[in-house]
Amino acid sequence: MNAIESINLMRKYNQCSSCGNDRVGGGEGTVNIEGEFFRRTCKCGWIVIVENGKVKEGDNQ
Ligand SMILES: [Zn+2]
Repeated sequence: MNAIESINLMRKYNQCSSCGNDRVGGGEGTVNIEGEFFRRTCKCGWIVIVENGKVKEGDNQ
């Protein structure tokens, strides 16, 4: 994905939809972008993956 798509996804999923945490790093949450793959996780177990425009959102709890 291009830089604009990456930024849009990071904005959209900046905040965890499960617990509201908006922190990344330091064990709080992670963001991974690789090619057409975007993943945002939160320490509470929430995860969202966007791959080739398809969104998979889940909560591991
Ligand atoms: Zn969370």
